[in-house]
Amino acid sequence: MSDPYVIKMPQLSDTMTEGVIVSWEKNIGDRVSRGDIVATVETDKAIMDVEVFREGYLSGPVAPVDSTVPVGEAIAYIVASSEEVQEGEAEAPAAPAAAETGGGEAQAQEGESAAAAEPAAAQAPAGSREPEGALHTIKMPQLSDTMTEGVVVSWEKQPGDEIKRGTVVAQVETDKAIMDVEVFKEGYLSGPIASVDSTVPVGEPLAYLVAESGQVVTGEAAPATAKPAGTTEAAASAPSASAAPSAPTSVPGGTPAPRPQGRGATPFARKIAGQQGVDLNTVPGSGPGGVVVAADVANARPAAGAAAPGGFPEVDVPGEGRKMNKLEAAISRSMTESLSIPSFHVTSHIKLGGLIKAAKAKGVSVTVAIAKACAEAMQQHPKMNWCYKPQDQLVERSNVDVGMAVAVEGGLVVPVLRGCESRSLEELNEDWQDLVERARKRRLKPEEYSGSTFQVSNMGMFGVSHFDAIATPGIAAILAISADTEQGSPFTITGDHRVVNGADVALYLKDLKELIEAPDAWMGPSGPAIPEGDWDYDVVVIGGGPGGEDCARDLAGHGHKVALINDSPFPGGECLWRGCIPSKAWRAAADRIRDRGHDADLGIQGTNQAKLEWKTLEAHRRNVLETRGQMALKTDKGVKINYIQGYGRFVDDHHVMIDTGGNQDDPHSRATAGDGKQTKTVSFGCAVIATGAPPFVPPIDGAREGLESGSVLTSDTVWMLDTPPKKLVVVGGGAIGVEMAQIFQDFGAEVTLLEAQDRILAEVEPEIAKHLTQVLNDDPRLSVHTAVKLEKISGKPGAVTAKYTDSEGKSHQLKADYVIMATGKRPEIDGLNLDKAGIATDGPAVKVDARCRTSVGHIFAIGDVIGGLMLAHTAAQQGRVAAMSILGEDMKYDQDKDCGVIFTRPEAGFVGLSVAQAKEKGIDAVEAKVPMNIDAKAMINREEHGLIKLVADKATGRIIGVHFLADHTDTLIGEAVMMVSAGLTLEQVGNAIHPHPTQTELFGELARRLLSRLRRSAKVKAK
Ligand SMILES: Cc1cc2nc3c(=O)[nH]c(=O)nc-3n(C[C@H](O)[C@H](O)[C@H](O)COP(=O)(O)OP(=O)(O)OC[C@H]3O[C@@H](n4cnc5c(N)ncnc54)[C@H](O)[C@@H]3O)c2cc1C
Repeated sequence: MSDPYVIKMPQLSDTMTEGVIVSWEKNIGDRVSRGDIVATVETDKAIMDVEVFREGYLSGPVAPVDSTVPVGEAIAYIVASSEEVQEGEAEAPAAPAAAETGGGEAQAQEGESAAAAEPAAAQAPAGSREPEGALHTIKMPQLSDTMTEGVVVSWEKQPGDEIKRGTVVAQVETDKAIMDVEVFKEGYLSGPIASVDSTVPVGEPLAYLVAESGQVVTGEAAPATAKPAGTTEAAASAPSASAAPSAPTSVPGGTPAPRPQGRGATPFARKIAGQQGVDLNTVPGSGPGGVVVAADVANARPAAGAAAPGGFPEVDVPGEGRKMNKLEAAISRSMTESLSIPSFHVTSHIKLGGLIKAAKAKGVSVTVAIAKACAEAMQQHPKMNWCYKPQDQLVERSNVDVGMAVAVEGGLVVPVLRGCESRSLEELNEDWQDLVERARKRRLKPEEYSGSTFQVSNMGMFGVSHFDAIATPGIAAILAISADTEQGSPFTITGDHRVVNGADVALYLKDLKELIEAPDAWMGPSGPAIPEGDWDYDVVVIGGGPGGEDCARDLAGHGHKVALINDSPFPGGECLWRGCIPSKAWRAAADRIRDRGHDADLGIQGTNQAKLEWKTLEAHRRNVLETRGQMALKTDKGVKINYIQGYGRFVDDHHVMIDTGGNQDDPHSRATAGDGKQTKTVSFGCAVIATGAPPFVPPIDGAREGLESGSVLTSDTVWMLDTPPKKLVVVGGGAIGVEMAQIFQDFGAEVTLLEAQDRILAEVEPEIAKHLTQVLNDDPRLSVHTAVKLEKISGKPGAVTAKYTDSEGKSHQLKADYVIMATGKRPEIDGLNLDKAGIATDGPAVKVDARCRTSVGHIFAIGDVIGGLMLAHTAAQQGRVAAMSILGEDMKYDQDKDCGVIFTRPEAGFVGLSVAQAKEKGIDAVEAKVPMNIDAKAMINREEHGLIKLVADKATGRIIGVHFLADHTDTLIGEAVMMVSAGLTLEQVGNAIHPHPTQTELFGELARRLLSRLRRSAKVKAK
């Protein structure tokens, strides 16, 4: 009998120290396989699955449901045989969650405030002034973390008034605002009431509710409870906040503190402790069985207003002192607390002009636009939004709640604009208007001015040349904005060195600068991009492939004067002349040959001797290309695009020189750039770069010589073959290489595909790519070798040798007619003179934002030249995005909804995200898959290879990806594209009626299956 495998409580997040068992997904004695989910546990952040990667039988003792188990402790066991299984539950290592005194927050909603409702409030001295028949004491609520007392501003109800639940009975001034005192009980308001202007400590009576009107007592409370504001004596005799059992309040957000070792704590107590940095192990619990309740936390934390950390020396200052008002005192305290922060400053100059213009065009405040930009920049720099928490903890927050200082009478208030990371500018602006208006009247609620995760102070409008702000506990950084100068406004960040360092802040400021100086990228265009001017063309588009052509047509359709500069006699680009269309013409012929192989299964005899007549195929292919090229040119001219044959180069950011010296009549081959002797220059308002990406051949020994001699071919030159090769080496397992390899094997060649990576088709979902590799290797004349290194190519056309080493370092040599290098495509931007127009690059590609705008606001770039998915429909979509951006419309390219088909047999395809890609984006995704061999049509046609996968977002049920390996993917994918782009749910697809017998039925089936699985697991979890 071997030792049982211990299933331990996994650490599922950085902050997790323990987990609560939510459910057992397997029962004791169940057989468990690798990858099975055996239980779900609640961490500090979410309910998560516990997966095991062992095989065997689940054995006890298992941790009981609802028990809390520290990370690393056993929750169950796996044993080798069913005989070894043990029944029973383990003793819970910590107090079970169910034993806690619950309801902290629920109760809080019942009282007049969280302060009055916590159990601790019940212990507050009710005082002997309570009238007879008192049902309820209305106490001074603690309305902010720092509030210790409040001043009665007004009574909204008078003794004898009938009070309903939710009635506002009084207004009190806290240290930060004037707030309503609401009552959530019924009865008659009774005295003694605290007089207007009196100061009442938190938790002390303000008034009472009695059951009957006859029991009402009029009159004011004795000064012992309610002291006139401002009298030093009275203040001195008032019970101090630290002496009174202070009642806790909670602001939204924060991670609950871990439970104390071996004891329970109420959820509310954990929440408060988490927010206030209290270690629950150090807090004595007054609840049943030593459970820590919120009042214990409040009593344990350092009282607000206690001596400043470090015990600063009392300095004898000459002159008469005035007692600070509440706001002044609160600011003073928080500033003193800030002295515990090891801070530093970093400044960058940022030009605000563009942002001010864009904000104005959108009708939003510049302050809000700055807050949003700060949040956008945090996507790359999340640390800027964290904070230090004593002792030695970091709070990692994903919600960006920006506090922005507003000057009000008597000081500064910092209203918090919540959810800046996810809410639209318009929503934030609406909130901000309201917050500012109420901040000025000091009518903000505590949760509206506390709990910010980042702060901004803008003094630019006061003309200050430079200042820095003070970071206070709870944030890692505060941004101070000074007045505009020639180099821009100084943006100075004060950072907490325990959370961020100088480089973090410097990089954050760099990205913030980019966002603020190019606001259109994230705020949307503030109007058409074509600047005023007497331009030869409103827009010039350089490059006439699918990207450039679609862009030019959209712009011409909107009435703009457009020039399409392309170095070929016809438009169409690589897609038409050397890419998609010619390769699919070859694929069509290869399909016919391949399909004949199955004719006999359907009883068709005499068709399996298919023979390729190369010259006829080539004539057909060239005819299709030329016809389509002519059609495209005719359409371009018809929509009034000025098609100019020539090679475009930037002269500056409003002029392009067209070199016609390299022009040639043959559209099939790639043109040369020209020598600069025959040129003309035109001016433009906007430009779009759509120059594509030619094949890239890495510097492999003998490759360059092979390209020159013609023994090494690329996707530019393979079309010149007089006959199909008999033996071929294809280097590169991307879409082009894989398609070419299989086409030539179908044409009868013996083909070896060499790929340097350990898999083919990097953009394709891993299981699909793996399955396709097996299918390709099953083809009679095709073999795929991954993880190899091509060392050398030698020989001449018709007799080439390729040497490579395999993954184990063994050398091999292949003899072939030709080598096709399908080793990728790389934008060729050298000839464009991008620097003359000031256009930035990102590696070999032109750098753009999601609206296809380059670093120069009126110049755009699309298609292969910007990298990413190098596909024709991607280029075309980006062409439309650029056109819309030029027109001033808000449109973005979203790669998460893009798609692709690899035209092999069966075809591989994808739209949207795989599970792994979704997880990388923080989406909890699930997938369901179906093999093609269960489909009736696939069986009939002998097209049974492959599978289809549907990926959905668990939280929303939306379909976020569909992945294919199936014949007819090129057609089937259409429905998947609509699912993903429209964000259809599993329910919608599952309920849609699909025609029978078609393969589209599989979509409905997959959706219903996934839906039912999600429902079932939700039910198990709910149990
Ligand atoms: C063999 C092969 C098969 C393919 N199959 C598919 C497929 O099935 N599906 C798919 O979606 N994609 C496929 N592609 C990819 C597709 O062809 C490209 O992604 C697409 O053509 C890119 O479009 P584009 O507009 O960015 O650039 P291109 O189509 O490359 O057009 C750019 C044009 O600009 C011209 N040009 C370059 N520089 C200048 C200059 N300075 N001045 C003037 N003109 C210039 C070029 O000569 C070219 O005509 C395939 C590619 C290859 C090679």
